[in-house]
Amino acid sequence: MDATNTPKINLINNLRQDFSQFQFELSDNFHWSNSKNTVFYPEIGSLDNNFYNLSLLHELAHAILVHSNYNLDIDLLKIETEAWDLASKVLAPKYSIDIEDNFIQDNLDTYRDWMHHRSLCPNCNINGFQQSDLRYKCPSCGEIWQPNEAKFTMLRRYNKK
Ligand SMILES: [Zn+2]
Ligand SMILES: [Zn+2]
Repeated sequence: MDATNTPKINLINNLRQDFSQFQFELSDNFHWSNSKNTVFYPEIGSLDNNFYNLSLLHELAHAILVHSNYNLDIDLLKIETEAWDLASKVLAPKYSIDIEDNFIQDNLDTYRDWMHHRSLCPNCNINGFQQSDLRYKCPSCGEIWQPNEAKFTMLRRYNKK
C-alpha cells in the first residue's frame, strides 16, 4: 500500500487547534451535535484512512455551517450536500486530504435512496410529496402516510462496522 494508507493521525489534532470553538469527542460513529457543539468521531478501526479523514471533515463542515435539525426529508439532502461541498472544496485541500468523489456520491446516494423509499405511495408505488406535517401525500390516489423509518438509522453507511 502506498502513502495514502499511512494514518494521518494528526488530522484530529490539527482540527482541534484550528477549530478550537468546537469540541471533538470520541464516540461510536461520526456525527455532529449542534446542541453539544461537538464533533463526534469513532476510532479509525478498519476504516479506509482517507474515507475516515473525509468523514471527519464532513462532520466539521456541519459544525462550521451550524447545521442542526432538519424537518423535511429534502432539507436533509440539502444539508448533506452543503457539508460535502464545504468538506471537499475547502477543507480537504486545506488539510491535503484526497477527495474521493465516489465515496461522496455513494454517501449522498444513500440519502437519496432513503428519501425515495420513504416517499413511495403504499398503493401506487409512485413518489408522493412531503407535507408540512412531515407526512407524505400521493398525488395520484390521495393516500397520506407517515414514513416509518427513524430519521438517521440507515444513513450511517460510512460508520465503523
Ligand atoms: Zn452529514
Ligand atoms: Zn397512491
